[in-house]
Amino acid sequence: MHIDPKQFEHIQKEAATELAHIVTREDLERLRLKYFGRKEGVLTGALRSLKDLSEEEKKTVGHAVHTVKLYLEEALAKKERALIEAELHDQQRKEKIDVTAPGKKIPAGHLHPLTQLIDKACDIFIAMGFAVVEGPEVETERHNFDALNVPKDHPARDMQDTFWLDPAVAGPGMLLRTQTSSVQIRYMETHEPPFRIIAPGRVFRSEATDATHEAQFYQIEGLMVGKDVSLANAKAVLEVFFQRLLANKKISIRFRPSYFPFTEPSVEMDVTCFKCFGKKCAVCKRTGWLEVAGAGMVHPKVLENVGIDAREWQGFAFGAAPDRIAMTRYGIDDIRLMYGGDMRFLKQF
Ligand SMILES: [Zn+2]
Repeated sequence: MHIDPKQFEHIQKEAATELAHIVTREDLERLRLKYFGRKEGVLTGALRSLKDLSEEEKKTVGHAVHTVKLYLEEALAKKERALIEAELHDQQRKEKIDVTAPGKKIPAGHLHPLTQLIDKACDIFIAMGFAVVEGPEVETERHNFDALNVPKDHPARDMQDTFWLDPAVAGPGMLLRTQTSSVQIRYMETHEPPFRIIAPGRVFRSEATDATHEAQFYQIEGLMVGKDVSLANAKAVLEVFFQRLLANKKISIRFRPSYFPFTEPSVEMDVTCFKCFGKKCAVCKRTGWLEVAGAGMVHPKVLENVGIDAREWQGFAFGAAPDRIAMTRYGIDDIRLMYGGDMRFLKQF
């Protein structure tokens, strides 16, 4: 048997060319098997056949085979490292954070329709020189009834209308306020006239709930006291308020005689129906008017109860119902939706 050592130079050249064209690790493994495979490997076969050669040939051929073997082993290892690195780089490139990509949107909530309405109302009154005043929801009988000239036997004081608190826990005569007028008393007790205030807030009535009644709802109370403040001022202020609240639509106010213990004279206040704007619709029961507030001149007794001289000072007070205004404005037919926390309802505003 004779082997020409020169053929290994060709093998090396051929292997080098093949190696240069390899781009995947699978192909690299195939090439490794071609030369180093246990059965079919070109170099494995050559090494195996060395034992059949003469001593002289063993030296020359053996040297040539080992040279190619070392060269190829090193070249294969080098190529493998390069391929692994390329793969890694490719992976990193795919995972790179794109800072120009649009961000994930975090869902944000918004204010409750009632809160939106009350906020807007406050803005309008502040622009007219009114201060926004708040008071406690747990009130004394004096602030909620006595000082407001509500007679001791008035039905509003009844258990059926008022949530009285357990005297053993809260002390005698404590209740959940039935009106925000209590805030007027607190303010007048501690301030000198003249003043203009509004008092928005939650009030409570011990009532069975239905589409138009809730055990809790909101009120916006207003009070303006001065030397010569009259009901004409009330009409002007409230007209401006409703016009601004309803996007500068032409709105009128009308008074109808009424009775409240804390005002004299007292009026029910109607405003041009802001569903049909006077054209008469189902919402206003074909009258063209909506009943939205009560008002009147502050009763002299109320002023005296807080130590203000009724011969020197006079003023008007009003109480509006934001729930009713919002319901008419947005076409909401059930007041309970306002407090139900139903997202399908709230998302519409
Ligand atoms: Zn109408």
